[in-house]
Amino acid sequence: MALIVHKYGGTSMGSTERIRNVAKRVAKWARAGHQMVVVPSAMSGETNRLLGLAKELAPPKPGDDHNRELDMLAATGEQASSALLAIALQAEGMEAVSYAGWQVQVKTDSAFTKARIESIDDERVRADLDAGKVVVVTGFQGVDEGGNITTLGRGGSDTSAVAIAAAMKAHECLIYTDVDGVYTTDPRVEPDARRLTTVSFEEMLEMASLGSKVLQIRSVEFAGKYKVPLRVLSSFTPWDIDIREEARSGTLITFEEDENMEQAVVSGIAFNRDEAKISVLGVPDKPGIAYHILGAIADANIEVDVIIQNLSKDGRTDFSFTVHRNDYAKAIDLLKAKVLPTLGAADIVGDTKICKVSIVGIGMRSHVGVASKMFRVLSEEGINIQMISTSEIKTSVVIDEKYMELAVRALHKAFDLDQPAS
Ligand code: ADP
Ligand code: ASP
Ligand code: MG
Repeated sequence: MALIVHKYGGTSMGSTERIRNVAKRVAKWARAGHQMVVVPSAMSGETNRLLGLAKELAPPKPGDDHNRELDMLAATGEQASSALLAIALQAEGMEAVSYAGWQVQVKTDSAFTKARIESIDDERVRADLDAGKVVVVTGFQGVDEGGNITTLGRGGSDTSAVAIAAAMKAHECLIYTDVDGVYTTDPRVEPDARRLTTVSFEEMLEMASLGSKVLQIRSVEFAGKYKVPLRVLSSFTPWDIDIREEARSGTLITFEEDENMEQAVVSGIAFNRDEAKISVLGVPDKPGIAYHILGAIADANIEVDVIIQNLSKDGRTDFSFTVHRNDYAKAIDLLKAKVLPTLGAADIVGDTKICKVSIVGIGMRSHVGVASKMFRVLSEEGINIQMISTSEIKTSVVIDEKYMELAVRALHKAFDLDQPAS
């Protein structure tokens, strides 16, 4: 008998019919002798609907922060879906109970809307499992030291599930979603994308951090830190398929590199449309510029991603970087108020119509010329590269948003990702 954590995303929980299917699938696993903890997301569209209502009442503006209430609000989505799933399980004849994050407790810091899990007290859940119950725990949410409800950032139910699996030393954490695994790139953008049967932890971490929304980055971090066996698979297979077949399906995140296996140079392509570019123009080229500009940004708790400083001309230079689009207006206001006057820069300009496209692969470590092939492919498509950032196992470029699909498809083909792995 093994302890298994299942996570079901919004689409998988999208209607009462689908919730019934989830309940039947979970019941099948429980009847096969497993202890089951299930972590659902809110029904699809619900988190957006709730946050949209808040936006109607208080359009976001710099310095005006409703984050505590937004978490109070958004967490209701998962509370509803969890209760519905427990009811559906009971209707299937199972003993089941649902808990909100604050009941478990899933303890987090107080960074509302992007809280981090600090600890999980699994005593209550374990007692229920030992009493033969299926336990449903809300995804996406926790509670801070002051008893306030927090949420973990969009897509955070993945992280809830993996963190619970880690805390409870689960045998495996299965992430059920609306695709049947991790693909070479988002199959919605490239229909020729291929499913990977395994992906290394490091590659998955890069893909998630570079924008592949199939897993939230923090869930991959948790899996790596606590070595949680993690698999991504489809919730749309018939619920009554053979459980052994189901347990082998999808994509397994692996922690050990198989040295006998010839690594593909590039394993996947990720893209991110959530960033915006900011340029500080005509800055005096002297020591301390980067600190002056990015220090002010960091003090406002805004994360910076790709950074470039151009060659200086006549003692002045341009400095550009990207931030999340949600932070764009705040960053521009802050730079205009604090940095422009003191630094003596000529102007601050921004562009929200950009996207970042990245190639990822641990094989890049041992192959030269991968980045230059990427640049060649983009140039052949007439796509201008605005910024570049590289690490050992990835190369990212920032380009005009309108070329995103073209870039992804051209790179997918050029790196033979549409061909079966040899
Ligand atoms: P859930 O609601 O189940 O959490 P998400 O929408 O968060 O589902 O994540 C699944 C989606 O991730 C897929 O529908 C797919 O469009 C997208 N996706 C992006 N990159 C990839 C990839 N490399 N492989 C598979 N899916 C991807
Ligand atoms: N419901 C949350 C969201 O839409 C969390 C999740 O789905 O993982 O972001
Ligand atoms: Mg998700």
